[in-house]
Amino acid sequence: MKRRTHKPKTSVENWTVSQVGCPDCAGVLKLTRDGRHGHHRYKCYVGHRFSTQSLLKAKEAQLEIALWSTLVLLAHIEMVCSNLIRERQSARASHTKPLQLRIREARVHEHKIRTVIESTHVCHVEEA
Ligand SMILES: [Zn+2]
Repeated sequence: MKRRTHKPKTSVENWTVSQVGCPDCAGVLKLTRDGRHGHHRYKCYVGHRFSTQSLLKAKEAQLEIALWSTLVLLAHIEMVCSNLIRERQSARASHTKPLQLRIREARVHEHKIRTVIESTHVCHVEEA
């Protein structure tokens, strides 16, 4: 008697392009459903692979790095604007108002980004 075996509804070979970028490189992730429960699986061109949970964790980490990087970039803009103001004051040149406005704006944006970072509740999900 021939025994029936369970065959997944979809094969891991049915990859489609997703709209999500790979968190580990600049590649685009392809998506498939795998196994009896149809869990999503992701892989990029060079072979980075993710489950939905590991992709979420990687994207959250990527977002935190991007937000801190943006905050630091704004601080650098403030410093460079301050240096430019000092240079212009030494040369007795005017036109520092746009630089002063930019510094104030950068500080406001820094505060908003810090609030976003500190108010984010990262979701820690377990692998299924
Ligand atoms: Zn990749």
